[in-house]
Amino acid sequence: MKRIAVLGSTGSIGRSTLDVIARHPDRLCLAGVAARSRLGPLAEQPAQFSPPLAALWDETQARALERASGRRILTGTDGLIALATDPQVDIVVMAISGREGLLPLVRAIQAGKRIALASKELLVMAGELIMRLVREHGVTLVPVDSEHAALFQCLQGVSREQVSTLTITGSGWPLWETPADAMGAVTREQVLAHPKWRMGPKITVDSATLMNKGLELMEARWLFGMPLERLRVLIHPEAAVHALVELVDGTTLAQLSPCDMRLPIQYALTYPERWQTPLPRLSWTQVGAMHFFEPDLERFPCLRLACAAAAEGRGAPVVLNAANDVAVEAYLDGHLAFADIPRVIEEHLARPRPAGDATLDELVELDRWARASATEALHQWLPR
Ligand code: MG
Repeated sequence: MKRIAVLGSTGSIGRSTLDVIARHPDRLCLAGVAARSRLGPLAEQPAQFSPPLAALWDETQARALERASGRRILTGTDGLIALATDPQVDIVVMAISGREGLLPLVRAIQAGKRIALASKELLVMAGELIMRLVREHGVTLVPVDSEHAALFQCLQGVSREQVSTLTITGSGWPLWETPADAMGAVTREQVLAHPKWRMGPKITVDSATLMNKGLELMEARWLFGMPLERLRVLIHPEAAVHALVELVDGTTLAQLSPCDMRLPIQYALTYPERWQTPLPRLSWTQVGAMHFFEPDLERFPCLRLACAAAAEGRGAPVVLNAANDVAVEAYLDGHLAFADIPRVIEEHLARPRPAGDATLDELVELDRWARASATEALHQWLPR
């Protein structure tokens, strides 16, 4: 029996993980759940699964849930760490968004837990440090994001010397067919209507701007220890191929599957085994023609900014990620225009920033600074 803690159990990945666990009651069990602040869904989860451990990052909400449920609720960063390192836990599914997950992830690695990693910001912020800890502690980290899960699968049995390039695909939706002169006028409904993947609102906006591919490029760099010049992004509107690995002899390996996150989540929990699923299969006759395009960096400036920040290093990815978070939140709250998201980020990247991005403390401090500074910078873009 594999005992699983899900950090970020109320989000899209967390709920899909609970669904995977529920489908294998004889082999998987839920040892703990944690969420940032949402009381309702977490209150229901213990009743369904009765995990021995539960945590809410927000203290006030934790106390309220404790009173309502009559059970102990861990709280704060210490609570998340206690859950992620508990001896009753074998696998930590890291799906909590934002930097609150960073320290719990580090402690889980140091405690020797298997990690199923879905929180992309953590690798963008601290990929070098996280992967160094993974090697030092000899833990297995399996990526959950569909493109990285695809690369991870293609790379089984392949040595680094055999790899020429790694390509992640992006469907380009929902705005891939929107002409350049119409990008400024896209509606919220268009942006939030992703035809291939059902995801939370933040990542759906990141998909529309292609920032998501930029963040994924940075993740891939650290996960697979590959220099940026050997990583590529291709737009593939059919979203059947999730990644490609080109080998030195000219052979290309591809991973194809339906757009259902339960597949990569289950593989991260069962690796190196593969278990049966009742999930839909790809129908080759329905996939039909498959197309691949170079991304358009003029129409999608967020991807251009992400590639530049990745190449620059020295804290630029932390600043880019924080500025993007702030800008997308303002967009979702209806305060910022869609076309101003890259403008806020670009302006913020050009500002002088504190040096130091090597240690955990420095990274957290840089992230804190970047968020405060981006929030300040945002005000000049807001309508008066
Ligand atoms: Mg992805």
